This record gives sequence, structure tokens and C-alpha cells, in this order.
Amino acid sequence: MEVTRRDFLRYAGSAGTALGGLAGLGLTLAPARAKAQALRIKDSKTVPSICPFCSVGCGTLIHVKDGDIINIEGDPRSPHNEGTLCPKGAAIYQLHKNPNRPTKVLHRKPGASKWETVELEWAMDRVAELVKKTREETFIERLPSGMAVNMTPAIFALGGATLDNEFNHICQKFNRGLGIVAIENQARI
Ligand code: SF4
Repeated sequence: MEVTRRDFLRYAGSAGTALGGLAGLGLTLAPARAKAQALRIKDSKTVPSICPFCSVGCGTLIHVKDGDIINIEGDPRSPHNEGTLCPKGAAIYQLHKNPNRPTKVLHRKPGASKWETVELEWAMDRVAELVKKTREETFIERLPSGMAVNMTPAIFALGGATLDNEFNHICQKFNRGLGIVAIENQARI
């Protein structure tokens, strides 16, 4: 197809961008995109995995180079997502690299209007202290009927979307051991 400079400017103008102009002329960018992608993941190792965000469990391919994740995309072999990912799954790379992600523990005291930065050790001790206190104050060994229940109704455990199966398995065992019965994971919500 012969494309004059005038043709290009006409289509680009009507579509608002140079890329729109190329598409208007019937030119496809797919090969260029595929080539750019191939260059990006060249010489990387591919590791199959699963998006942790929701219970659909879309298959992903993680590209690793020099011990670092450089790309994550949908796995075309997965029967239910066939290489696609929803916007949340498509942003999964940012779980690994995201300059906007908070890296410090923030704590807001009861009644306070501002967050304070605290040490991780202190925060973990504080969580343990509150879990122990709440459990002791609310633990129910038996119902009025005499049935043994050994549970606390005062604590709710909610797992985050980025926790993997193995961590969730340990986590629910730990919570059940404490007598917590309200256990959920964000991925099922
Ligand atoms: S969040 Fe999106 S990409 Fe991830 S498993 Fe669910 S549907 Fe799939």
C-alpha cells in the first residue's frame, strides 16, 4: 500500500494521534509490538505462576533476568484466561516494583488524626499483645448448652490478596489454633 505524506497527516489528524493515523491507513502495529516485547524479555527465564488477586486464578508467566523480575503477563496456555489478564492482574508487576509503595510501618494511635512511622518489631509486638488480650477477654470454652466450642468471636482474620496458597494454609491453621472462626481472604471477596 502506497502512503503519501498527505494521506498520513489526514488520517493522523482525524484519529488525533500518529498511531491512530497508522491504524486508519490499515497498518497494523501488532508485529512491532510483538518485536518490542520479544526484545524486552530476551534471554530471560520464564516461570509459570498464578495471579493471587482473586479466585479466578488466571495463569501468568513471570520473566526473570539476573535474579530480577522484569515482566509479568498472562499465560496463553491457561484454559480460562488464555493469555489475558484483567486490569488488576495486568498491574501485577507493581507488586514487585512500585516506587509509590509504602515501605515503612504506619501506626495511628486511638483517637489520633495522624499516622506515625514505627519500627516493624514494635508493630509486631503490639499486634501480638492485642490479639492475646482480646482472645483472653472473649474466649468461649462452652456454649450455654454445654457444647465445647473453644473459640473467640472477637477477632476477624482477613488475608491480603498477595498472600500465596502456602502462606494462607499456615495462616488459617494458626488462626484456627487460636480459636478464631471468622477467617477470610481478600481474594474471595
Ligand atoms: S484479578 Fe484479574 S487477572 Fe487476577 S485472577 Fe482475578 S480475573 Fe484473573
